[in-house]
Amino acid sequence: MIQRWVVFALCAVVAGAIGWGSAAREGLAWGLLLGTAAWHLLDGFYARRLLGWLRSEQSEEAPVLMAGAQPRLPGIWGEVADRVRRLLRNRHQQYSESQARLDELLEALQASPNGVVLLDDEGRIEWCNQTAAQHFGFDARRDILQHVANLVREPSFSAYMATADFSHEVVIPGSDSTPARPIKLSVHAHRYGKGRKLLLSRDITALEQAEAMRRDFVANVSHEIRTPLTVVSGFIETLQNLPLKKPERDRYLDLMAQQSQRMQTLVEDLLTLSRLEGSPLPSATEWRATTTLLAQCVQEARALSQVIAPQGHQLVLEPGPECEIAGSQREIASALSNLLTNAVRYTPETGLIRVTWALLADGWGEFRVQDSGPGIAPEHLSRLTERFYRVDRSRSRETGGTGLGLAIVKHVAQRHGAELRIKSQVGQGSCFSIRFPAARVRQVQPGAQVQAVSA
Ligand code: ADP
Repeated sequence: MIQRWVVFALCAVVAGAIGWGSAAREGLAWGLLLGTAAWHLLDGFYARRLLGWLRSEQSEEAPVLMAGAQPRLPGIWGEVADRVRRLLRNRHQQYSESQARLDELLEALQASPNGVVLLDDEGRIEWCNQTAAQHFGFDARRDILQHVANLVREPSFSAYMATADFSHEVVIPGSDSTPARPIKLSVHAHRYGKGRKLLLSRDITALEQAEAMRRDFVANVSHEIRTPLTVVSGFIETLQNLPLKKPERDRYLDLMAQQSQRMQTLVEDLLTLSRLEGSPLPSATEWRATTTLLAQCVQEARALSQVIAPQGHQLVLEPGPECEIAGSQREIASALSNLLTNAVRYTPETGLIRVTWALLADGWGEFRVQDSGPGIAPEHLSRLTERFYRVDRSRSRETGGTGLGLAIVKHVAQRHGAELRIKSQVGQGSCFSIRFPAARVRQVQPGAQVQAVSA
C-alpha cells in the first residue's frame, strides 16, 4: 500500500516539478493535476488488465501487461492477481481431490454385488450402478433424472414407495423375469440427506429357490417317514387290542419289520446325503482299485437279486483294465452300489445287468451299469437326480427305494469332478454311467500290486 502511495506521490511531484519549471505556480497546479490524472489512468489500465484476466478462463496463468508481453502486473494489482491465482489453484486442487474421492466412492458402489440407486427428494434417479440398471431395466445414462415410479411399474413397488414405510423390504420381479425363469428382487429404501432416498436391490432368486427346496425337502421327509410310521403304529394298536393267532401275529410283525427297515434305509440315505454336503472334498491322492470297488458292489447286488427275484438276474461283470481312482472308497462304492441295486430292483427277474469299467480314449475312466429293464421315458430323465423324484412310485417303494439313490450318485460324482450320464429308452433298458476325469484315473501296470485303501 505504501508503495502505491509512493508511486502516486512520485507521479504528482515529477509532474508538478515539470509544471513548475515551465510555468511557475500555474504550471505547478497543472503539473499536479496531470500527474494525478496520469497515475489514475495507469492504475485504471492495470485494474482493467486484472479484470480481463479474471474474466478469462485462463486464471492459471499470471496476468501480463500486454498480450504476449512478459512483465506481469506491478504493485498492488500484481499482488492481488498472485493471491487470487494461489486461491484458485488451491480451490482447483481441493476440487480435484474431492472429485477423485467421489470417483473412487462411485467405483466402489459400481463394484457392489447389490443394486444401488440414489433418488432426489422428488424420487428422480440421480445415479445408479450397473447392477441396479440390470435389476430394474434402467439405462444408467439415459434414465438419469427420470422418476423411478415411471420406470418401475410393479404395483407392489409403487405401493411401497407411496406409503413411504421403509422399515422393511419389498420383493418384486426383476426386469428380466419370465414365467420360465422367474427372477426375484428384494428392494429396500433408506432415507438420507434432505428427503433423498437410497434404494438397495438384491437378487434373491437363488435364496428363494433354496428356501423352497428346503421346504419341499422337509415336507418330503416328513411324508416318507409318516407313512411307515402310521403303518407300524396301526399294527401295534391291533396287536395290543386283538387276540390274534400266531400266524397272524407273525405276519403283522413281518410287516412292521419291513416298515421299520424302510425308515432305517431312509434315515441312512439322508445321513449319507448330509455327510456328502458337509464333508471336505474327497482326496485326490488316495487311490482305490476299481476291481475291489466292483467286486464289493457286485456281491451286494447278487445278494439283493436273490432276495427280490426268486429266479435272479444275469449279472455280467466286465472289469476292464486294472485301474485306480483317486477319491473316497466309501463314496464311490456307495454311488456304484446305488446304480447296481437300482438295476436289480427295476429289472424284471432273469433280466440282463452288465457292469463295466472302461478306460476311455481321452484318459477318462467310466463305470457303466446297463440293464434290460423297463427303461425310462425321456421327460423323466432330467429330473431323476432330484431328491425323492420317482418315475414308478409303487415299484420304488415295493423294492425298498427311498427316492434318494440317484441324488447320492450325482453328489458323489460332482465331488469327484465326475459326470453322471443317463441313457434310457422305454422298453429298451437303461444305462447309467459315472465318468471320472483323467486326473483321477490311473492304469495299474500289469503285475503291479493294487492297493485298496478304505475311506
Ligand atoms: P429310488 O430309491 O426310488 O430307486 P433313485 O433316486 O435311485 O430312487 O431313482 C429315482 C427313480 O429313477 C426311481 O424311482 C426309478 O423310477 C428310476 N430309476 C432309477 N434307476 C432305474 C433303472 N435302472 N431302470 C428304471 N428306472 C430307474
